[in-house]
Amino acid sequence: MVRVRRETVVGVLVTSLPLVLATLVATLFFPGSGERLVTLFMINVIAVLGIGIYAGNSGIVSFGHVGFMAIGAYASGLLTINPIIQKTALPHLPEWLAGIGMPFLPALAIALLVVAAVAILIGIPVARLGGSSASIATLGFLIIVHVLLVASADFTRGSQTFFGIPRAVNLWVALPFAVAAVAIARAYRDSSAGLRLRASREDEVASTAVGVNVKLHRFIAWVLGAVLAGAAGALLAHFLGAFSPKDFYFNLTFVLLAMLILGGITTVSGAVGGAALVMVIVELLRKLEGGVDLGAFSLPTVFGLTDIGIGIAILIVMYWLQDGLFGVRELDERFTWLKRSVPTATRGAGDAGEPAAPAVTEGTLRVENLGKSFSGLVALEKASFDIKPGLVTGLIGPNGAGKSTLINSVSGVVPPSIGRVMIDGTDVASLAVYRVPVAGLARTFQNIRLFKNLTVLENVAVAASALKSQTDPRERARQVLAEVGLDGFADRLAGTLSYGAQRRLEIARALALKPRYLLLDEPAAGMNPAETQELMHVLDRIRSKYRLGLLVVEHDLKLIMQLCDVVVVLNKGQQIAIGTPAEIQGDPTVIEAYIGRRRSSQQAQAGASGLQPGVAGLHNPA
Ligand code: ADP
Ligand code: MG
Repeated sequence: MVRVRRETVVGVLVTSLPLVLATLVATLFFPGSGERLVTLFMINVIAVLGIGIYAGNSGIVSFGHVGFMAIGAYASGLLTINPIIQKTALPHLPEWLAGIGMPFLPALAIALLVVAAVAILIGIPVARLGGSSASIATLGFLIIVHVLLVASADFTRGSQTFFGIPRAVNLWVALPFAVAAVAIARAYRDSSAGLRLRASREDEVASTAVGVNVKLHRFIAWVLGAVLAGAAGALLAHFLGAFSPKDFYFNLTFVLLAMLILGGITTVSGAVGGAALVMVIVELLRKLEGGVDLGAFSLPTVFGLTDIGIGIAILIVMYWLQDGLFGVRELDERFTWLKRSVPTATRGAGDAGEPAAPAVTEGTLRVENLGKSFSGLVALEKASFDIKPGLVTGLIGPNGAGKSTLINSVSGVVPPSIGRVMIDGTDVASLAVYRVPVAGLARTFQNIRLFKNLTVLENVAVAASALKSQTDPRERARQVLAEVGLDGFADRLAGTLSYGAQRRLEIARALALKPRYLLLDEPAAGMNPAETQELMHVLDRIRSKYRLGLLVVEHDLKLIMQLCDVVVVLNKGQQIAIGTPAEIQGDPTVIEAYIGRRRSSQQAQAGASGLQPGVAGLHNPA
C-alpha cells in the first residue's frame, strides 16, 4: 500500500504555489509574451524535475534526459502533425505512420509509452553503473539519440526543422502538468523507494548494509525521470510547433542542469527555484546581448552573454552554497510549524513501546572456515566460531589482524573468498548483499557511515523500510531512536550530530532492521569515557531485551572482559584463540601475540590508556 504522508501533501502544495502564482500574474498582467515565458518555465520545471528524480536522488548527474525529451517531442509530433503539411514535409513516412493527426493528449500518452520502453532498455545497463561512469553513459545516450534523429530523415526531416505540429500547449495546459510533475517528484522523493535511493547517494555501501537494492532503485528513478522528461519534450514540441534535433542537445542540457544545480540538485523546491532563477537571468541578459546604448557609454554586442551569465551564476552559487540555493532540505521542511507535532519525549529512552527488534527465534549464527584474500594478501583465514543469541562475542586482535575484514565478510559487504556464514541453514554469504540484513544480520562500520544529508529519522527509516511491516517505517524509526536516546534529534541532519551521537545513530539504524545478530566494528572508538559507558548500557540493554547475538570489536580490553561472554582472538588473519574472557587472559599465545605486545608498547608510551591504538589508514570499506 502506498501511504501519502501529510508532509508530502504540504510539500506539494507549497512547491506548486509559485507555479500557480506565476500563472496568475502572467495572465492578468503580462498576456502574450509573459504568458509564453511562464509556459516555458512550466515546461522547464517538468524537465528539470525529470532529471532531478534520477540525478538528485541517486547523486549521479544525468546528461541523457534531454534525449528522452527529444524522443517525447518527435514521437508525439509524428502522431499529431497536420496530415496535409505532413504530405510535403515527410513524404517518405511509412504507411502506418502517415496521416494520423491525432489530438495532443492521446499522442502524449503513446509518446510516453515509447519513452518508457526506451528508458527501460537503456536503464538496464545504466542502473548497474554508479558515479561518473553512469554520467558518461548518459552522455553517450544523448549523443546516440541526437545522431539517430539526424540520420532518420524520413521520420524527422534530419537536421532540418520538423514543423506542422499543432500548438496545443498554452499556459493553462502546461500548468496542470507542471503541478503533476511536482507532485510525482515529491511523492517519489518522500516514498520508501526515494528514501532508499537517497540513502545510496549518501553512502552506497552503508545503504546496501541496511537492505537497499541500489541497482533496482536507480532503475526505477531512471525510468520515472525519463517519463517526466519525455512529457516535457512533448509539451515543448506542441508549444513551439516547430523544432529540430539541435533544440534537444547540449544547449538545453546545459540550461536544465544549470537550473537543477543552482536550485539544489536534491530537492523539488530547488528544481522549481533554480528553473525560475535561470530563466530570469536568461531574460535579463538576452535584453543586453544585442548591445545597449546608455547614452554616455554603450555596451557592445556580446554573443553567448546568456550562457556566460548562467556560468557565472553557477560559479557564484557553488562557491558559497555547495548544495545550491535551496540546500539539501525541501523548503517546507524548514518551516517547523508546517509539520505535525510528534509526541516524542513522553517515553523514556529504553521503553520504546513496540519492541524495535526481533521476533525472538532461537538459533545460532555459525561462521564456518571463513577466509578472505585481497589479490594475494590473506587478510583472514579459517575463522570459525558461533554467535549465540543473547550473548556478546568479543573480537580482538592487533591492528590489521583481520577483524574488520571478518565483519565485512560475514555481513556480505566484502564477499568472503571461502567459507560459509550459516543462519537457519542458509548460507548468507551466498546472498546478494542487500538481502543479508533482511536475513537477520545487521552491522555498524569502523569509520562511521551515516547518510549525512538525511535526517536522523530518515537514516533509521531507511533501515526500517527494508522489512515488510504494516507500521510506517518512520514511526518505527522513532521507536528505535528512543531506544538509543536520540529521539530528541529526529529532525536534525545526521551529519550535524556529535561523534558519540553518530555512533549511537549507526546502532539505531542497525537495530531498525530488527536483527537477530548485530556486528559492531569498534563502536566505542573515539568516544570519551562517559560516552563509552553510556554506549555499554545501551548495548547491554538491547542484548538482554531482544536476545540479540552481538559481535563486538573493541580495543579496550577492560571493556571486552567486562562485556563479553566469549572472546575470539585474531592475529595476522589467523584465529589464534577462542574462549571465555578468563581463558583468553591466561592464554599464552594471546599474551604473546596481542596482550604482550600491547603491554610492551604501552610501557613504551608511558601511561597511555590502551583505549585508542591508531586505526587510521585502513583501505577497506569499514
Ligand atoms: P583490523 O580491522 O583487524 O585492523 P582489517 O580487517 O581492516 O584489520 O585488515 C586486515 C588486512 O587486510 C590488513 O592487512 C589490510 O591492509 C588488508 N585489507 C583490508 N581491506 C582491504 C582491501 N579492501 N583491499 C586490500 N587489502 C585490504
Ligand atoms: Mg578494523
